[in-house]
Amino acid sequence: MAVEPGEARTRRIYGLETEYGLTGRPRGDRRVGPEEIARQMFRGMIAWGRSSNVFLANGSRIYLDVGSHPEYATAECDDLYDLVAHDAVGNRLVEDLRGLATDQLAADGTPVEIFLFKNNVDSAGNSYGCHENYLVDRGVDINRYYRVVLPFLVSRQLIAGAGHLSRTKLYERPERTAGAGGPAVFQLSQRADQMWDTVSSATTRSRPMINTRDEPHGDPELYRRLHVIVGDSSMSQTTTLLKVGATELVLRLVEARVALPDLTLDNPNLAIRQISRDLTGRTPVELANGRTVSALEIQQAYLQAVLDQRDRLGPFAPGLEHALRLWQRTLTAVEAGDMDTLSRDIDWAIKHRLITRYAERHNLPPDSPRLAQLDMAYHDIAEGRGLFRLLDAHGEVSRIVDEAQVDRALTTPPPTRARLRGAFIEAARAAEVDYLADWMHLRVNRGNQTRALTLRDPFRDVDERVDALIASLSEPLW
Ligand code: ATP
Ligand code: MG
Ligand code: MG
Repeated sequence: MAVEPGEARTRRIYGLETEYGLTGRPRGDRRVGPEEIARQMFRGMIAWGRSSNVFLANGSRIYLDVGSHPEYATAECDDLYDLVAHDAVGNRLVEDLRGLATDQLAADGTPVEIFLFKNNVDSAGNSYGCHENYLVDRGVDINRYYRVVLPFLVSRQLIAGAGHLSRTKLYERPERTAGAGGPAVFQLSQRADQMWDTVSSATTRSRPMINTRDEPHGDPELYRRLHVIVGDSSMSQTTTLLKVGATELVLRLVEARVALPDLTLDNPNLAIRQISRDLTGRTPVELANGRTVSALEIQQAYLQAVLDQRDRLGPFAPGLEHALRLWQRTLTAVEAGDMDTLSRDIDWAIKHRLITRYAERHNLPPDSPRLAQLDMAYHDIAEGRGLFRLLDAHGEVSRIVDEAQVDRALTTPPPTRARLRGAFIEAARAAEVDYLADWMHLRVNRGNQTRALTLRDPFRDVDERVDALIASLSEPLW
């Protein structure tokens, strides 16, 4: 359902897309490039779902282009805790594919150790993304979202950045210098130095912060999909919750037409770089109106508006309430310069502590390749090897969902349109029919007959048409 003008949307669809970095270290004489590894992972996927682009029974999509980055897109979630659990499933699935590819390559006589990274930049300075998707109403002027959301997103790295020990100089293209153009500096974000535009429909060359391609994956008369591509991937579940939850709150501010200070940035591409280089959040950035403001002040202004106008923002589910508390706590800690209190919850602070302690213990300068390696290893998703995974195993970082909840999300779709898709996929597989599913469509081909449905409402998790289609799969003939 659409919401009334001036009302905050209190139920929203969220989805997270994660692209993983992929490399291999040969265990024998022969080198094995990422393309070949991807090809082997791809073979594993064919075993699962008969294609390199599969929708799974939990409603998600896994996608693997040979030679590129494995990508996992969560199903449509309408709850932040669900989203965190479904995001965590992505690691499990690509880990499974990594295992299959490792075995296959060893059996073929080219043993290789495969690494998968949930991060946004490889050692050559190439970037890949983590996309956030938020359903918004067609009836709200999209430019109002852009105007309010952009300064928030440019400064959001202060609360949700992944941290990055980087040698990229201000305004340098990291891929041209293999990310090693200057002295090493610990930055808040991995994506900041990759952004060259604010809003645009292109994703590759211009690298916008928000992609404006109009593809709502829902009824185009009612909905749009706000496609945010400026964010870092998060290892920490708390950071994921805060990243999406704080953004949700800002979207509600726009919808409820809460009066906000004009924080339009003079040069967002410069501001995002300046902010990334200051862990204290105090560096002034220029506004279009000639004033200056810091990242901390931008974040505080939005948070304060949420706290002051809470009554106008509708009820908060427990996940959103949780995100609000985290947001407050994080900004209070940054303001007090008390990073240690964030070192269980916020990726950049967790990583910063890890790297600084290691550097002190081993007396290493910031440019040491061992520290760059540590930065990378933080994002390695392998159990028993990845550094975040090790911290997690030792109980040194906070969690939002436990392994049992991730297990459930692996097989159970969230209570949205994803449930219809999941039920259909499960039934079609059991019936061994030729089928196709995507975000909006379900289709079965049988003999020379085709039955197809379009699911326009991403909120709706019951639909007699889908029940009928599933029931028809067990009919002997159509
Ligand atoms: P690209 O990979 O090229 O960016 P894309 O963003 O269109 O393409 P997907 O990678 O398939 O496509 O991911 C779509 C994401 O959008 C998923 O996480 C999904 O859950 C989410 N989503 C689906 N329908 C909606 C909707 N109506 N509103 C918001 N998000 C949605
Ligand atoms: Mg995608
Ligand atoms: Mg996308």
